[in-house]
Amino acid sequence: MTSDQRAAALEAIAAEVRVCDRCRLARTRTKAVPGEGSPDTEVVFVGEGPGQNEDRQGRPFVGAAGSLLEELLRMIGWSRHDVFITNVVKCRPPDNRDPEPDEMAACAPFLRRQLEVLDPAVVVTLGRFSLQTFMPGDRISRVHGTERAIDPATGARAAVGYAMYHPAAALRQGALKETMQRDMAVLPEVLIRARATRRRPTEALPAATQPALPTATAADQPEDDQMTIPEDQIGLF
Ligand code: URA
Repeated sequence: MTSDQRAAALEAIAAEVRVCDRCRLARTRTKAVPGEGSPDTEVVFVGEGPGQNEDRQGRPFVGAAGSLLEELLRMIGWSRHDVFITNVVKCRPPDNRDPEPDEMAACAPFLRRQLEVLDPAVVVTLGRFSLQTFMPGDRISRVHGTERAIDPATGARAAVGYAMYHPAAALRQGALKETMQRDMAVLPEVLIRARATRRRPTEALPAATQPALPTATAADQPEDDQMTIPEDQIGLF
């Protein structure tokens, strides 16, 4: 797929999300929040669901949690425009309650299709609902700052998942901000390793995680015009 084709495919999904009425969240939302970012990125961030600011603007991570996420990205020399940012559920759960299992299930095809189009090398999970979507059974306190292969059935056909706390958790609990800074600082190295995994899927992962990644074929490789964040701009300290 070319960059223009990916942008068009993502916009087609976004248009469906904006008029979606597959679950009860459609009745209470102001605007659905499909997600946004570079169609050419190798890194997708997946949060939980829109909050009040996101619901008003129809854009992900534009409130206080978004400011922290942008600050963390700046730390490694990246911006929100270099990555794609979306959520497990695309409409705000009322009063910021947790999303219900049936709401996440109703929304899952949108996330899967976004990932199929983007074919990222790394999916960064923000918080426990995103973690459960990509790395079921893991606890965020145990696995944050670590990477593992994710199931291609999620739509990310050759990606590693990288678990981080949710920025809102760091806003509530100051000590977690430092943890998030440390975890974010490692992300450029995770991307470099993930690229190697995509090139050599049977060598680059520990044995236990090998079966979760398909054997790479020419079709799995990024198109020539798919932007990669160049290694000299990888933002290492
Ligand atoms: N929290 C999320 O999980 N997603 C957003 O878009 C904003 C806040």
